Amino acid sequence: MTENEKRAKKEISRHLEKMMPNSHEISKRNAQILPHEIVNTVILPYPFYVQKAEGSRIWDVDGNEYIDLTAGFGPILLGHSPEVLVDAVKNQINAGADFGLTSPLQGKLAELLIEASPCAEMVNFSNSGTEATMEALRLARAHTGKTRYAIFTGSYHGVHDAALIEADKNSDQHAPTGRSKFGALGIPQYIIDQALILPYRDDAAFDLIRQHKEDLAVVMIEPVQSSNPRTDVGPFLQELRNVCRESGVLFMFDEVITGMRIGGMGGAQAFFDVKPDLATYGKVIGGGHPVGAVAGPADIMNTYKVIFSGGTFSGNPLTMASGAAVLNYLKTHPEVYPHMAEQSNRLAKEVNKFLVQEDMNVRMMNAQSLFSFVFTKMPVESGWDVAKIKYDFQPSLFYSFLHKNGVVIPGLHLFFITAAHTADDIDMVIKAMKKSFLEVRSYGLI
Ligand code: PLP
Repeated sequence: MTENEKRAKKEISRHLEKMMPNSHEISKRNAQILPHEIVNTVILPYPFYVQKAEGSRIWDVDGNEYIDLTAGFGPILLGHSPEVLVDAVKNQINAGADFGLTSPLQGKLAELLIEASPCAEMVNFSNSGTEATMEALRLARAHTGKTRYAIFTGSYHGVHDAALIEADKNSDQHAPTGRSKFGALGIPQYIIDQALILPYRDDAAFDLIRQHKEDLAVVMIEPVQSSNPRTDVGPFLQELRNVCRESGVLFMFDEVITGMRIGGMGGAQAFFDVKPDLATYGKVIGGGHPVGAVAGPADIMNTYKVIFSGGTFSGNPLTMASGAAVLNYLKTHPEVYPHMAEQSNRLAKEVNKFLVQEDMNVRMMNAQSLFSFVFTKMPVESGWDVAKIKYDFQPSLFYSFLHKNGVVIPGLHLFFITAAHTADDIDMVIKAMKKSFLEVRSYGLI
């Protein structure tokens, strides 16, 4: 860290500590009892505890109000606690929050999802995106009788072992080898050996699939990668679809983030007009409650009858009721999507115009309402490029200034806007971002 960075960090940390004394106290207490309060990749600029949230806003335990761009890491499509959701959840709690046994609600949410998801004839529910991708790999192996699976450089599919493999940055960019994500311990070598890492947006991926087709059960891809959200992936996805079909390898979209967000309720399948063999869901389809789902055609989904799946809370009535309330709302209010797309594209355009004018080493990438900052002005072609960025300064510094200026991004690199963000909210976000970049620059950084 440079002297200028150290000075900026010290001054903004002092400011945030004064602004959030209660958060500071809670953080000190929790450090003794919680080894890991939140997911690994979240870079909160300063310990910060949320008291409540409504619409596009959140309040911390010190009473500070912010515009929230975290959106619960994606599930909060309609903003926090919309009436339609609160009513559904209250009714369901009164009727019983958890039966273990089946209720009609699973079928209701499944019908809404099947209507929206082009590849889906059947659905299996679980409790998180992690469970969904884990089950989908098991299903694909059982269905094909093959064991290996392929994922892409720059991907994210959750926290089970098989999802925690990434490309080794020191290997060949066009035929990367795998290692555990972030070099984290605890992932056995035999899992790493089962993963075939494919280069994202690189034609070399097609030949690798053909070469490994005898062992390869499934190719799993985020149709839009959260590490570099973009909309120019259509031709690559279409060609992958063709290559997988001709190679006898299942092709799976991980729509945990894109589902119900990009391209309306049809998700990335509708946006890119590509129909995979399987799709996984999470986030939005639970209406803010923990959820995961695998969806696909009946011939593949019937393989569920010969694998093990399920859990105490899978398909629980509270999640099913809240998910159905949100999906029903989206079905009857399609105007939500053009509003979000318009505000999202305006945000990206305005901020990028400013960054170019100021010649700053930062760009905002977006695929509609899914965003990420990349801290370079060089074109970013894939997550491989993102991983290789040499930062001028730690991005958490920018997020700290932004926090002071009333906007929260979890520093995951990715962030969202919701249907509750008004044009005025977006104006405030643009202003706060510009101010924060200039404040970072005032320390001789960027
Ligand atoms: N797949 C994708 C594409 C994701 O973005 C995520 C989470 O961000 C997951 C899977 C894992 O979902 P969860 O955090 O609900 O386990």
